[in-house]
Amino acid sequence: MSAVTDHFRTVFGEEPEGVWESPGRVNLIGEHTDYNDGLVLPIALPQRTYAAARRRADGILRLSSTAGGDVTEIALHDVAPGVPEGWGRYAAGVLWALREAGYLVGGLDVAIDSTVPIGAGLSSSAALEGAVAAAASDLFGLGLLADDETRTTLAALCQKAENVIAQAPTGGMDQSASLRCTAGHAILLDCRSGHVSQIPFEIERHGLVLLVIDTRAEHTLGDGQYGNRRAACERAAKELGVASLRDIPYSHLADALHKLEHDPELFTRTQHVVTEIQRVRDTVEALEQGELAEVGLLFTSSHLSLRDDFDVSCEELDVAVDTAIAAGALGARMTGGGFGGSAIALVPERLVPSVEMAIYSAYEHHKFTKPLFFRAAAAGGARRTE
Ligand code: ADP
Ligand code: MG
Repeated sequence: MSAVTDHFRTVFGEEPEGVWESPGRVNLIGEHTDYNDGLVLPIALPQRTYAAARRRADGILRLSSTAGGDVTEIALHDVAPGVPEGWGRYAAGVLWALREAGYLVGGLDVAIDSTVPIGAGLSSSAALEGAVAAAASDLFGLGLLADDETRTTLAALCQKAENVIAQAPTGGMDQSASLRCTAGHAILLDCRSGHVSQIPFEIERHGLVLLVIDTRAEHTLGDGQYGNRRAACERAAKELGVASLRDIPYSHLADALHKLEHDPELFTRTQHVVTEIQRVRDTVEALEQGELAEVGLLFTSSHLSLRDDFDVSCEELDVAVDTAIAAGALGARMTGGGFGGSAIALVPERLVPSVEMAIYSAYEHHKFTKPLFFRAAAAGGARRTE
């Protein structure tokens, strides 16, 4: 019996009608590009969030998570921005967004269990939304898991839930990764058109491991840093007379930067976004050519750009990245929004233990919380489990 089914029985005293799962993700490259209509390249992780669910006839949503907290209970028509309190808003938001879009969705009892580290920049929030969305789609016969097109609709509704009800102003990468990834592939997501290309990601054939380093440094996007970066990008686009920074081709970067010389903030933010979008294209090409050393170098350039131009790194991330490279990684970078969370490193298989040891000692030396490591593999998207 799965932990989530067990939890459902304990809390609600009944059998769930089914269990659905949706993965966390790690973004290979393309950071802070999603809300600039740019490109991102995430993989879905084997780590996932499970939702055991059962329909109710009274329009009430009850939620309980093995991660703790009381049972949240709310009538669906009471769901609103910031309501309910706490983590339940991510789940309630999904049902709200479905109803707003005209889907006939009723009440549910939902138990949640997750193997995605929460708040580690690996997108536990989108995994939670995806699992609830998958459950609602199947239980209310919406058919939104059918193919990539319907999953695109579902991803957009999950993003709306996170933006409007959970009030986190994030782009759409996490939900797309959780719902649209396929095993063995990264998705190249064009955040303007919503178009996805499946890019084979088979680094083990090159004797490499994608090592995820959870720095355990709290990543808090709620303190305005994220909104503030977004606003700077929007201001830069306006000054440059374009709809978004995506519209500045890499070949026109020098011109654009020249126009922003009077404002160092807009200058550096633009430099990051435009070069980062180009790095995503270059990474896809290098992966297709099997040039993994080049992929490593692109990871490292991305990190330096995020650290120096976008200013969203932190000491824990920098130490993880620098130490991994010094210990033999082909490249490394912070992943996710920044200010903590996780880093990734592309490491020759035989060097993984020494890279981990080196990072442990560096963290000890800096008196940082002990980091966590795992090897990432490109897994599939949301689906029914049981
Ligand atoms: P990330 O998505 O990188 O893990 P976020 O800050 O976007 O970080 O989302 C984390 C929030 O999502 C948590 O604070 C909590 O509100 C909610 N959450 C995610 N997974 C769970 C879970 N299994 N149980 C309860 N809440 C969860
Ligand atoms: Mg999140």
